[in-house]
Amino acid sequence: MKSIKLIIHGGAENGISSSLSKQRKVNALKELRKALENGYTVLKQGGTAKESVVEAILVLENSEYFNAGKGSVFTNKSTHELDAAIMCGAENRAGAIANVGIVKNPIKLAKIVMEESPYTLLVCNGAEELAKEKGLEIVNNAYFSTKFRKKELGENNNNMHFGTVGAVALDVFGNLASGTSTGGLANKKSGRVGDTPIIGAGTFASNICAVSATGQGEFFKKSVFSHNIHALMKYKNLSLVEAAKTAFNELEKSNIYGGFIALDKLGNHEFLFNTEIMYRGLISEELFFVDL
Ligand code: ASP
Repeated sequence: MKSIKLIIHGGAENGISSSLSKQRKVNALKELRKALENGYTVLKQGGTAKESVVEAILVLENSEYFNAGKGSVFTNKSTHELDAAIMCGAENRAGAIANVGIVKNPIKLAKIVMEESPYTLLVCNGAEELAKEKGLEIVNNAYFSTKFRKKELGENNNNMHFGTVGAVALDVFGNLASGTSTGGLANKKSGRVGDTPIIGAGTFASNICAVSATGQGEFFKKSVFSHNIHALMKYKNLSLVEAAKTAFNELEKSNIYGGFIALDKLGNHEFLFNTEIMYRGLISEELFFVDL
């Protein structure tokens, strides 16, 4: 069997590790393990990278321990506005949704945008209408709320808490995909859209590499961060590791906090972050680990 690999992240976080209970960390790592197992099962059975990415992200969206789906952060209006994106390198197709408040699994809707619409990005009501038309599970906005996020909002008004989730996968056909899902920044102004659903910023995949980022989204958008890694490999012939380091240096120089996961078609990978923690994990024939 050709090499298959799945890498996930559960958000880069600063100044939060000490406030997370040991139990919360244990539970989050358990969910990461489950996400890897579910996503890897798809790859092992000969499924595609995009299907694997969706399976992994679904576990994390359904878990209250991450800032995606259930457990998403609150906006300044005490609501939840979710963003997600998926990109398939082999097909050179992408789908993204932003500012959605009633769709239980935003990553499923992003995949529908990619595969069943002529668009790459749908927002607000239009995206929600498509979800209903396609029979996706609809929930009340309050479904996404958790006590943990309410408390966090009370204590922290500086938009600095992260927890986005993402996955990159390489399938048996040698194809790559990337996906990212998030509630965005805590206490963000209602209407703000982050980097996650902006293709080339927080999420990108080609037939060269796949990238999913997390952190201060405004930087990732302005620098077209994820696409930069692809461009450095394509136009400068850098290796994945060199390209990832070059992009990461720019992040560091800009005094920005965040991180990302990246994978190339040969199975080379990189995780880089400059925050206190970044939940992350990898599964392949040879390796299986989760860490924070
Ligand atoms: N990048 C996301 C955003 O700016 C936040 C995160 O990664 O947690 O919306």
